[in-house]
Amino acid sequence: MLRLPGLIDPHVHMREPGALHKEDWDSGTAAALAGGFTTVLAMPNTRPPIFDEQTLSLSLGAARQKARCDYAQFLGAGPDNSLSVSGLASRSAGLKMYLDMTFGQLRLDDMALWLPHFKNWPADMPIVVHAEGRSMAAAMLMAAIHNRPVHIAHISLREEILLIKAARERGLRVTCEVAPHHLFLTDHSAGEGGLRGKPGRSQVRPRLARQADVDALWANLEVIDCFATDHAPHTLEEKDSDDPPPGFPGLETALPLLLTAVHEGRLTVDQIIEKCFTNPRRIFNLPAQPETWIEVDQDAVYEIRAADHYTRCGWTPFEGWKVRGRVHKVVLRGIEVFRDGKLSAGPGSGRDIRSAE
Ligand SMILES: [Zn+2]
Repeated sequence: MLRLPGLIDPHVHMREPGALHKEDWDSGTAAALAGGFTTVLAMPNTRPPIFDEQTLSLSLGAARQKARCDYAQFLGAGPDNSLSVSGLASRSAGLKMYLDMTFGQLRLDDMALWLPHFKNWPADMPIVVHAEGRSMAAAMLMAAIHNRPVHIAHISLREEILLIKAARERGLRVTCEVAPHHLFLTDHSAGEGGLRGKPGRSQVRPRLARQADVDALWANLEVIDCFATDHAPHTLEEKDSDDPPPGFPGLETALPLLLTAVHEGRLTVDQIIEKCFTNPRRIFNLPAQPETWIEVDQDAVYEIRAADHYTRCGWTPFEGWKVRGRVHKVVLRGIEVFRDGKLSAGPGSGRDIRSAE
């Protein structure tokens, strides 16, 4: 058995409040533990979005009752909440800015609306941006002008990883994450496995990229600070509808896919530890979880089946994929919480890592 630290996923969508038929703090954190993650950082684009005192308390209240692993909640940047959210920073995972989103209450139509957030958000708390292509370049410039670090969510393109590499070589404080689906799927993957010819099932943002982009990510692994699942569950019914929402579940497939890549010699166990534990812990300033570890059976060979998963959404884009490496056991703060497919952590046993207690 291979022993690893409890993994950290800095990018998940718990769907609570607002879409509990897809996921909630209970099912989502069950999926996290089953996937080997003992800490998750939740994104704020729920309904309502988490962007003020009232909505932050709403989400954290639900998490306190339901979460089975440790957690923190991001606050969302809106067009006029920079002062109020900055006052809540210490209770949050960080600030999330959607710079390419064109709808909803977290819409930031122009760069003038980004400025107050870069100015007012506390310097020692993280800012994460959803910024693709040229927006990413603009966000990096704005962070540099304000002399603060910035973390780029789910990069997927060659031009993005090369720009981050160049920026870092010149001393800019920029970090980034890549989602496993952008490492293991391409825009030609539709029709294979779980995607099964249903066009909605390959819909994700950022979109699945070209083979050349995927190759560039693998060729520049040293530039990737974190692997983050961007776990974004929707039901199969929704994915196969005429208006499919973008997003994939990912918490229960990430580690098996990464361990399979280790077996194939494309990745090392040390790189998994660095990108799923050491770096996210540093970037997001997370406390230690004492007596917390996971054990994986590196030789277990099996097929990924959504039917075996704890996520409520009921499907995976990796259905039927043959993988090597299975989570055997998860120990959180000295207590065994998962073993061989069975969960023993109760709802509410997870902790808010930003709470003072
Ligand atoms: Zn996301």
